[in-house]
Amino acid sequence: MVLLRFAPSPTGPLHLGGLRMALYNHLFARKHGGKWILRIEDTDMTRYVPGSVDGIRKSLEWAGLNYDFGPGKEGEHGPYFQSERLDLYKSYAGKLIESGHAYRCFCTPDSLAETKEKLARAGSSASYDRKCLHMTEEEVARKMKAGSKHTVRFNTTVVPSRPPVQDLIFGQLKDAHASLATDPILLKSDLFPTYHLASVVDDHEMGITHVLRGEEWLPSLPLHLDLYASLKIPTPTYGHMPILLNPDGSKMSKRHGDVQVADFIKRGWEPEAVLNWVLLSGLGVHHNVPAPEDASQTRSASHVPDSTKIMGLEAMINEFDISAVTHRNTILEGSKLEYINKHHLMARAAHPGGLQSLAEKVHVEVKESFPHSQYTTIDMIKKAILILEGRLTNIYDIPKHAPFLFQDPDLASEQAQSMRSRITSEDYDRVVRGVRARLESVTEPWEDLDILGLLHKEREALGLSNKVFMKALRCAITGMKVCHDLTSILATDHFNLVKDGPALADILDVLGRERVLERLR
Ligand code: GLU
Repeated sequence: MVLLRFAPSPTGPLHLGGLRMALYNHLFARKHGGKWILRIEDTDMTRYVPGSVDGIRKSLEWAGLNYDFGPGKEGEHGPYFQSERLDLYKSYAGKLIESGHAYRCFCTPDSLAETKEKLARAGSSASYDRKCLHMTEEEVARKMKAGSKHTVRFNTTVVPSRPPVQDLIFGQLKDAHASLATDPILLKSDLFPTYHLASVVDDHEMGITHVLRGEEWLPSLPLHLDLYASLKIPTPTYGHMPILLNPDGSKMSKRHGDVQVADFIKRGWEPEAVLNWVLLSGLGVHHNVPAPEDASQTRSASHVPDSTKIMGLEAMINEFDISAVTHRNTILEGSKLEYINKHHLMARAAHPGGLQSLAEKVHVEVKESFPHSQYTTIDMIKKAILILEGRLTNIYDIPKHAPFLFQDPDLASEQAQSMRSRITSEDYDRVVRGVRARLESVTEPWEDLDILGLLHKEREALGLSNKVFMKALRCAITGMKVCHDLTSILATDHFNLVKDGPALADILDVLGRERVLERLR
């Protein structure tokens, strides 16, 4: 069975990049009938931010990425906080010392800085001269007895044979070991491990079969493989995910706006839409994995879904194919999220339970926008969702798109005035009076009324064009042009967003006879 892990450091809230890592681990595990662990890599206490673990867990829960083992889900692989596994790292460091693959280094930070300077003056980029590797056993024993502070360094001079370094996404890495630092530290003087030792030990101890992690760890891969070889333990399969970029090609960071999952939650995006978006942005033809028999050949992914394909989590699992993940940097385009979110909203609203939960989700938001309205009920919101179907890119846009359902239109607004200015006063009055008279004489129940038929009859009677008639009536009922937020529509135009407002007959239907008449009067 495959077993994966998502291993964030508790250094702040979960970002989109982290969410994407968790998602890929989840998909890979589920696709192959396996499981995954949430492991908290809290060995660098200087970077620890209180509350981050809760934040990470909440974000994962919102996204529906349910880990199988981890904080709150104990099991055979725990503990899941690295700070609770210190003895384990110490014992592995001891094993490496015993076999000659590691040694104790008693150099002080000052002397190390001096050494580095000396090496640099001599034209070397190394940071250490292996001084302590050459200490005699007696010297080491003496220092140990005196309780001298020390670190444990990896002895890179005695590494066993190195098979080619292979990555699931980046393919075979050339000269991977060239960048290996001189005898990196494994255990710090405070007895906390460095990332490298902790990660290798935990991946082994927890029985991880596949490590999917960020590209920033790719340079560490040769060291990790050397550690596995020195410990004579089996190596998991590695896949490194490319970095997420902003549309302008810069690295995603807080400075470029919202990158925290919490921001996406706050702004009302559908969890599956956000997952769908980050998943698809990273897929593409994968040029870097040469087939073993022909290194010059490029391989294309067997299955590369379109970058705007709409998928729920189940479909994402079914369709997941790691070979479709591109090694190229991944650009996240906000307009694609709008498009994808719109479709997820439609799918959710198509089920009564989904519609109800959507209405509940946006209720507070709508109430805040129309604090004095008696119409901000769940029921009215449900109706708004249904008539705005296909036009809403975000559920929190309801107040912006359909304020007329919750409050009377402001006919003095610039928008309403500009609409009126395109119709003669005479036509406007005729439409308003005509429709009012027809509605006043309606006797059948509102639900049975053919509203569209009634409007057509009146239009014919008045001898007006459909355009003038509808514009006049829409202005009187809503005070709004068809498309309120032109910039957002333009941004998503190439995805064929429906550009017009909800059908007028639908709006009348939702408002009900009395409210419509009130407005016409
Ligand atoms: N703790 C590392 C980070 O937060 C994860 C490294 C890994 O997945 O191995 O970036």
